[in-house]
Amino acid sequence: MWQMDEAILRIPNPYLRIPMSKYKPTVFEKVEITAAAAEGKSLARVDNRVIFVSNAVPGDVADIRITGKKKKFFEGTAIHFHTLSDKRTKPECKHFGLCGGCKWQHLDYQWQLHYKQQQVIDAFTRIGKIKFPEVMPILGSKEIYNYRNRLDFSFSDKKWLTIEEIQSGKDFDRKALGFHIPGTFDKVLDLEECRLQGELSERIRKFVREFTSDEDYPYFNIRDHHGMMRTLVIRTSSIGETMVIVQCFEERKEAREKLLNAIAEKFPEITSLMYVINPKGNDTFNDLEIHCFKGRDHIVESMDASTGAQRDALRFKVGPKSFYQTNSAQAFELYKVARDFAGLTGTENVYDLYTGTGTIALFVARQAKKVVGVEWIEAAIADAKENAKLNNIHNTEFFAADMKDIFDDDFISKHGRPDVIITDPPRVGMHEDVVRKLVSSGAKKIVYVSCNPASQARDLAILDSAYEVTKVQPVDMFPQTHHVENVVLLTKR
Ligand code: SAH
Repeated sequence: MWQMDEAILRIPNPYLRIPMSKYKPTVFEKVEITAAAAEGKSLARVDNRVIFVSNAVPGDVADIRITGKKKKFFEGTAIHFHTLSDKRTKPECKHFGLCGGCKWQHLDYQWQLHYKQQQVIDAFTRIGKIKFPEVMPILGSKEIYNYRNRLDFSFSDKKWLTIEEIQSGKDFDRKALGFHIPGTFDKVLDLEECRLQGELSERIRKFVREFTSDEDYPYFNIRDHHGMMRTLVIRTSSIGETMVIVQCFEERKEAREKLLNAIAEKFPEITSLMYVINPKGNDTFNDLEIHCFKGRDHIVESMDASTGAQRDALRFKVGPKSFYQTNSAQAFELYKVARDFAGLTGTENVYDLYTGTGTIALFVARQAKKVVGVEWIEAAIADAKENAKLNNIHNTEFFAADMKDIFDDDFISKHGRPDVIITDPPRVGMHEDVVRKLVSSGAKKIVYVSCNPASQARDLAILDSAYEVTKVQPVDMFPQTHHVENVVLLTKR
């Protein structure tokens, strides 16, 4: 049994900082947490009422302070523990509990996988209400830390202060470089460590934080829009390339060049050092010019797409605006599942809907007659076409448009009836018109890749009239979070 150890509990501050209401808060005592719920919360029941609890894991027995009352359920947070679950483990990062990044660090990885698997089963049973075969055991990630190839850090002149710092009455440096505190608009956690991207990323962030700590580099003030330093993006690839993008709000040429030169000198490993001046209201730089300060304007990611003896890794050019799955190793596992489910023999006409930069399309292209990829971001489609060329793949075609507008009978007659459709929509799932088009598409197989089993289950309920769910394979792309990716094979009835 665990010791009642502060390091294990790490009660998140944000909740405890909610100003005490005039009324005495409702606290339920000695409640057993019975299951995992959506969004990383857990579930408990008191007098037949469901409570979604933060800061606890299944198996804990805790006092729960109610933070919200809805008609059908309550929301609450565990404030005192009587028994700690044996499913707990010690969180590795000192910021656990405050940082919103890894909400499940206190849950043993095998249990994280268990609850992700359960999330899929629950969604299919409760939302989809469809028949489905036994869900295959979730594919866990070999790396459960340092698995991300991209992190976006924010600079802020509103560092999140701990209660101790506030109570001490001292004047604190309010600069911070890190992640936004969940539930706050302008507060940023000044990161001392992050376990998501590896050692080089850590050194780069710390160096930049240190170098910009004086008054020559004011950090961004998101309320009043002033300051220079805005975001720091670090992207890495599995073949050792690194891109760093410094985003400034105000251009201060001399200071900026001094910083970029210092980064370049300190980290010769950086293959692509870039900057962007963004005077807009939001952090998105996809509509702005990104300048290459040193090195190339992209990094290269590599993925082995071969199925036989012949080894020919696919190479992907990843620019500052390009999307690439953030866990490269697990993306590979995910794509292999999708390709297996598609069961291609070389003669099929394949559609890859929501293709992004064409990664799945290119991954399966050598086993298909033709692949047609569709995606609404023009820049992503440009990347997809370029990546096809780069890999000498000539049997793909890519189109940029909103799926619900382009995917119609005309499109199908123009590009040929699909034998297999692979679809990988965003979290919201597919537009109902698109799902209905899939129903009448005539494809023998549909491979549905999803990052949200709830919206996937909703779409499957509509597909059920024409397609039967024959395989379900969850994949863990994001250890330490509640997120789960899920691949479903549908076969025509
Ligand atoms: N399959 C890709 C990306 C999947 S992410 C990969 O594995 O890398 C989902 C993609 O759907 C995103 O690229 C997003 O831009 C795109 N998308 C979202 N809504 C869309 C819509 N209405 N029409 C077309 N594409 C859309």
